[in-house]
Amino acid sequence: MFIDGAWQEMERRFDITNPADGSVLESIGDGGAEEATQAVEAAHAAFAGWAGTTAYERAAILSRAHKIMLERRDELARTMTLEQGKPLRAATLEVGYGADFLSWFAEEAKRIEGRTIPSARRDQRFLAIRQPVGVVAAITPWNYPVSMITRKVAPALAAGCTVVLKPAEATPLTAVAMMRVFEDAGVPKGVVNLVTCSDPRPVGDVFVNHPKVRKLTFTGSTAVGKMLAGKAAANMKRVSCELGGHAPFLVFEDADPVHAAKGAQLVKFLNTGQACISPNRIFVHRANLEPFVATLTERVAKLKVGSGLDEGVAIGPLVNEAAVEKMSRQVEDARDRGAGVACGGSRLTDGGLDRGHFYAPTVLTDVTPDMLIYREETFGPIAPIIPFEDESEVIAMANDTEYGLAAYIYTRDIARAFRTFEALDFGIIGINDINPTSAAAPFGGMKDSGLGREGSHEGLDEYLETKLGGFAI
Ligand code: NAP
Repeated sequence: MFIDGAWQEMERRFDITNPADGSVLESIGDGGAEEATQAVEAAHAAFAGWAGTTAYERAAILSRAHKIMLERRDELARTMTLEQGKPLRAATLEVGYGADFLSWFAEEAKRIEGRTIPSARRDQRFLAIRQPVGVVAAITPWNYPVSMITRKVAPALAAGCTVVLKPAEATPLTAVAMMRVFEDAGVPKGVVNLVTCSDPRPVGDVFVNHPKVRKLTFTGSTAVGKMLAGKAAANMKRVSCELGGHAPFLVFEDADPVHAAKGAQLVKFLNTGQACISPNRIFVHRANLEPFVATLTERVAKLKVGSGLDEGVAIGPLVNEAAVEKMSRQVEDARDRGAGVACGGSRLTDGGLDRGHFYAPTVLTDVTPDMLIYREETFGPIAPIIPFEDESEVIAMANDTEYGLAAYIYTRDIARAFRTFEALDFGIIGINDINPTSAAAPFGGMKDSGLGREGSHEGLDEYLETKLGGFAI
């Protein structure tokens, strides 16, 4: 735990395990309400000093953190692969993506501007300024252990806020490594604090109830996000939430089915399907169904599954046993209701995989709305294919979900691309593109997928208050 610039050891500890083989990697301090309160108090004590630095000073520290993070890219990636499971190459890419937030918000710190507003009175002047909201409590998930931290901490620090971070129980080691990056970059004591824990509830309660916390930023499941946002709202705290998704992937009759299938494979199986923007419902026009399914199945069947540290592995383990059971449940339900299994469809145990949480990369065909997988976020390596015939029908089906995070459209018709882009109720849409994300672009969802945006100017606004001055002269 890192509180008020000091590393604290604790007697109460919990184990971090490798999801690829069940081995214990390390044990770590198990914090609770007391440590969370100490961390909030430290962040509050440090706030005035940090908010009083110039944007140039904050930018210099964030830029140093960016440089140190890239120097430690291999070490950070290895820690992430060990505790989270993703292939080393993907972990290395995530460190780069995570570092981008530090450099982008370092620059953006210098562009926090206010404005003057004309008054109807001759003797009056209006001035609107932007100020940091105060102490920020941040809760992050295990699936992107590094970038979900920098996507919150970088804009918070750029704005002049101080932070208390609670990472996921499964991936605290990467969070510890990130705190060392901030410490070595010269972030003053108390400005960033880390509380690790095995039971998130007491820490979460402090975050939503402590009067000195001014903002809660949360990334995780919709159920937990709604519960925490409700409690924080009762105490009038600012809230932003990045929650679950159920992304539709639309392949129209005018798209190149082979190109679209390659894209679907790459984005669906990223991080073993454990991504909030992972396609969860792949709608393919009947005219393109056969070549699309053939290409996707051929590519998916070749994906190498195993430990993320092994050469050539594309699919790592799932996070835990419950995730493997969810895959089995969704596939069995789909099979019972008439879906075809083009490849995969079972747990993997051969070659030592039984020690980890592995499920075969799977393609399901003829998926219908009565199946569990059509409604429930999968968060795993299963690609369900749903045939369609008509544009308005597929837009209605794509929007028929409480989620609204990411969507993907494949078409070569520019008018259809525009129509569909405007008609889909999702916050992030890739048009013939499987990676519509960047530190410079607003990321976030509509409906039950969240509140607010991360990255971009919008991501900085989340940490700023607007203050109006009316001057009589
Ligand atoms: P989760 O169970 O909601 O956990 C997310 C974080 O919340 C973890 O740090 C967790 O701590 C903490 N948490 C859980 N219960 C809590 C409570 N009662 N009080 C305070 N904190 C609590 O979600 P998950 O299963 O780890 O993550 C997967 C979900 O995150 C998916 O739905 C995915 O789509 C979503 N996600 C969204 C985005 C996005 O940007 N929209 C990005 C990544 C993931 P513990 O680990 O200790 O339980």
